Amino acid sequence: MRTAVVVGAGVGGLAAAGALARAGWKVTLLERDDRLRPGRAALVLWPNGIRALRALGLAGGLDGISTPVPSAGIRRPDGTWLVQPGVSEVESPPVVVHREDLHDAFIAGLGDQVDVRGGIEVQSARVRRDRPAVGDGRVMFEADLVVAADGPDSAIRRRLAAASTFASAGFAAWRAVIPWYRAPELPADVALHGETIGGGQRFVYASLGERGSAGGSTRGGIYWVATVPGALRPEPAAGQLALLRRWFAGWHAPIAQLLATTEADDLVQEPIGELTPLPEAFGVPCGPGGYALIGDAAHAMPHHLAQGASLALEDVATLQTVLVGGVTGGTLGPALVEYGRLRRARILRVLQHSKKAAAVLQTRGRLAASIARVNPRTLDRAAAASTEWAGPTG
Ligand SMILES: Cc1cc2nc3c(=O)[nH]c(=O)nc-3n(C[C@H](O)[C@H](O)[C@H](O)COP(=O)(O)OP(=O)(O)OC[C@H]3O[C@@H](n4cnc5c(N)ncnc54)[C@H](O)[C@@H]3O)c2cc1C
Repeated sequence: MRTAVVVGAGVGGLAAAGALARAGWKVTLLERDDRLRPGRAALVLWPNGIRALRALGLAGGLDGISTPVPSAGIRRPDGTWLVQPGVSEVESPPVVVHREDLHDAFIAGLGDQVDVRGGIEVQSARVRRDRPAVGDGRVMFEADLVVAADGPDSAIRRRLAAASTFASAGFAAWRAVIPWYRAPELPADVALHGETIGGGQRFVYASLGERGSAGGSTRGGIYWVATVPGALRPEPAAGQLALLRRWFAGWHAPIAQLLATTEADDLVQEPIGELTPLPEAFGVPCGPGGYALIGDAAHAMPHHLAQGASLALEDVATLQTVLVGGVTGGTLGPALVEYGRLRRARILRVLQHSKKAAAVLQTRGRLAASIARVNPRTLDRAAAASTEWAGPTG
């Protein structure tokens, strides 16, 4: 029986551990936190991410936990339209899902075949001996395959692709879900999803289900993401919330109401950055086995296109396909090289779209001048183009 060690229990790691276990591999999942905890807030999944979930046999789990996000257009802070709603080039609407719900679906997909070890922070990776192995300073975990799903600061990537580092993109971002019982009551003509940009800042919001639809659960509500130029803020969360209310003061409804009903405990502050340069290889043979870098460990990028989780799921679907269908003889090396070839080409395309989106979003100064230079429909086109993924072998 083939063996795998998956490092990191985020979206990518959980999906990879489940996929390998379902394909008959003996899987050990290592996570530095004591418990498998979901990331907080919510995520948008695009049609490509949903296609990847389908390839992994997990799309059924989205039923009942996801809400479609119709094309909402893009507005200026005063509420006037930059891009009218309903004219998107994206093939079908993305969905928004609470991360705790997605986490539960992935945990259910692990089955009982995965040996889950919490409280293990991987610090080293062995690349010169017979088989790959990772260690936390006390124990080495050896396997045919090590999947590095340990996020943007990946310890394994530091060993395999030392030149790649996570560099700030010059933004900080905050996400929150306001549970329905606390969410503002809004007039019927105020949409519960939207996107507004101005002066280098961006505010995106979407509802998770309809008010009351989450029953006794606190997981429904209104999700929002605020992006602001500058570094992470050192203040406690209450101070960060006060700053956000000031920065977005005067923006059209319901932005002020959403910030007013957000509590400091709802806030998740995150650095925005990208891997520079991109690792040369996402699949690294080692003896008869090797390493696969997936998700943010392989290609962390700014969240402008909200593609990080969808790309991690594409990685897993591709890895599953090349490993299950494409391994001949005793060695994983050729399958891992093929995995890296397919994924690196795809990620380079998405990075190009992301840079186009960044050019619109990062434009500061007088908006009128920036619109003359950059067509805001570029954002929609970049979003649509980045969903074009032909499937695990494309
Ligand atoms: C503001 C913001 C909004 C975003 N919005 C979206 C969106 O709407 N849609 C979308 O698709 N993407 C979005 N993203 C990106 C998305 O969140 C990430 O791309 C995605 O979560 C990456 O998943 P991952 O599994 O690769 O890594 P992570 O989720 O970072 O998981 C890594 C895991 O590895 C563990 N770990 C780390 N180091 C070690 C170690 N040394 N040993 C053991 N375990 C370790 C961590 O504890 C964690 O559990 C957004 C990102 C930001 C910042």
